[in-house]
Amino acid sequence: MPDARKTLWGHPKGLYILFFTELWERFSYYGMRAILVLYLTAATTGDNPGLGWENASALELYGWYTMLVYLMGVPGGWIADRWLGQKKTVMIGGLLLCAGHCILALEALWAFYLGLALIVSGVGALKPNISIMVGGLYPGRDVRRDSGFTLFYIGINIGAFLAPLLVGYLGEVVSWHYGFGLAGLGMILGQLIYIWGQRYLTGVGDSPAERVRHTEEDNKPLTREEKDRMILLFLSFLIVIVFWGAYEQAGGLMNIYAKEKIDRMVGGFEIPASYFQSLPALYVILFGGPVALMWVRIRNKNPEVASLFKMAVGTIIMGAGFLLMAGASGEADSASHGKAAIWWILGAYLLHVIGELCTSPVALSFISKLAPHKYSSFMMGAYFATTGLGNKLAGEVGEAAQKFGETAIFNGIFSFCTMFGILLLLFLKKLNKLAHDAEAVQLPGQG
Ligand code: GLN
Repeated sequence: MPDARKTLWGHPKGLYILFFTELWERFSYYGMRAILVLYLTAATTGDNPGLGWENASALELYGWYTMLVYLMGVPGGWIADRWLGQKKTVMIGGLLLCAGHCILALEALWAFYLGLALIVSGVGALKPNISIMVGGLYPGRDVRRDSGFTLFYIGINIGAFLAPLLVGYLGEVVSWHYGFGLAGLGMILGQLIYIWGQRYLTGVGDSPAERVRHTEEDNKPLTREEKDRMILLFLSFLIVIVFWGAYEQAGGLMNIYAKEKIDRMVGGFEIPASYFQSLPALYVILFGGPVALMWVRIRNKNPEVASLFKMAVGTIIMGAGFLLMAGASGEADSASHGKAAIWWILGAYLLHVIGELCTSPVALSFISKLAPHKYSSFMMGAYFATTGLGNKLAGEVGEAAQKFGETAIFNGIFSFCTMFGILLLLFLKKLNKLAHDAEAVQLPGQG
């Protein structure tokens, strides 16, 4: 059997190559992100000098940066669909990322901007394309596709969990540039794994020129069904904006809230607010499997339960997390010391992550099933670009809390997500018609 078809624990071996590549890519991304604002705002003097920026300017650069990395997924996907194929584009993206992160380890302003530019292009080339490659490991309607994406998503979050702890510690305590360098080392490791693992990826993510029967496949105009599916995908991006616009309060408003208004003393030790940033990733690692299993059970009994249903339910569950935040806010306002119990935020993040697990890996799988082959990476890039817009929106909503108060914002997000989710459930049948059975599954080995 060719290497590319061999399986390990029920999944193609290529999945584990993509799993570890993306784990390290995310380690470098989230590691660098964890210290970016701190480095920008640190004083220019002292043992570990930063750039001495104002908070507002640092947050502004952060907002643009986190949006741009995902927006670049559109050209990244386009290049793969048109010319290079996903496999080569991921390779190039990885090289750009190794260069970008390592350049940040240098102490010079030109190196800082060049590093950021390389990272933005590198993530754009790598992120959508590696996600499409995961789908490419499961041809047709293979039932293992969803669980493959769940595993992949767990890998992402192992990287996201470790990064703020390791890169954050090294950067903050020893030297910002060592921190950036460690992020770079992580990415180099991911790139080496990807290069070594090519043998398990034959036939996956090939360029149009390499694909068998490419001319027929790439020159045919889209059929009516394929067009409907594209429309459905674009409609589903509305969920993506709402979801990430709410969820991404994590790094901003909820981060500041944890610092100022949550009682973080546990057994005489005060938990640093930044530790809460690793919590969602930890929850994904713990609950990724159980949530995926729960959906398999539900789907076995109700075959009509498909991705959009899960995404609507996920948005409602995530929104419910904000009800807990509103509860925290009420408690903090009435408490004499002005702080709320830690349980509120632990519970809020838990609901956020259960919602995320119903929405985010499901969306990746959904796109890989519905997008016509020749636009697959472009659509995945458009998906990430939409999450980037969601990130930016989250920043704006968070800022509004300064004006309207946290309680109003938390209650507002909760109500909006709930209504939006319910509305989606009401239109579900109509929307699902546009999928034209693209989600019907087939067991491994069947026809
Ligand atoms: N946290 C996930 C990741 O890093 C999802 C991010 C997103 O979709 N914007 O892959």
